[in-house]
Amino acid sequence: MNRIPCQTYNCNTWENNLRENIYLTELTCPNCAAQGRFSRKYEIKTRKGGTKDATSTIVVWEIEIYPGFKPGKWQYARLKEVRIQIPMIVCGECNATYKAYPAFVVKGTTITLSALIFITCMYTLSGLSWRKMAEVLCGGKIYAISHTAMYKAVHGIGKTMVDDQTALADIEKLISEFPPVQADLSGKTRKPHTKERLAAAMRLVSPPYRFFCEDREPVRYMYAYTRLLEGYILKTSMVIVTILYNYRY
Ligand SMILES: [Zn+2]
Repeated sequence: MNRIPCQTYNCNTWENNLRENIYLTELTCPNCAAQGRFSRKYEIKTRKGGTKDATSTIVVWEIEIYPGFKPGKWQYARLKEVRIQIPMIVCGECNATYKAYPAFVVKGTTITLSALIFITCMYTLSGLSWRKMAEVLCGGKIYAISHTAMYKAVHGIGKTMVDDQTALADIEKLISEFPPVQADLSGKTRKPHTKERLAAAMRLVSPPYRFFCEDREPVRYMYAYTRLLEGYILKTSMVIVTILYNYRY
């Protein structure tokens, strides 16, 4: 089923949004362009004639940052599993049905957009491996995020931009208003294609990355930039490309 991204800030605002169905009035149907004609579907009919709940639940990884955090004190940040509801909605004009996703969950990963920005900045700045990052961000818990998920999300969003020159140009335009910053990726990877992906991902997060480097309220800027990027994702329905993980990288 097709998904439709909805404007919302975080997991909590999404819950409120769902309770009051605010997002429905703001959505435009991608099929017939009708505005504000969506309603929520609570039940769907099954083949056997019964009904089942039309709202599904997914688990996403959200970043939590505690007082005392500063770049280098990475243990003051945690990746937490959060369950969020994904409702099914139907257009009153053309009957098209969609799954409504919050814009901070980009198709192709379960890591939220703010967490993805944080992870990309941390990976470049900290010098830690993906494995070590998973350990730090999950407080040493065994059944926590796999380093593969983080690798795939960061390299995936990089590849999305490498493959789509329009997206890359859009992002260059978006970040052109911020002072330029160059990240040193020389120690990260030697393979040209992984280097290219990582460099593209870093271009994407370069505005907040600068604030991480300079330790100037990086968290505040990270969230502000997340809003900006969400706006772009809402417009373009950007998807994170699925890539294969090679343990040697
Ligand atoms: Zn419609």
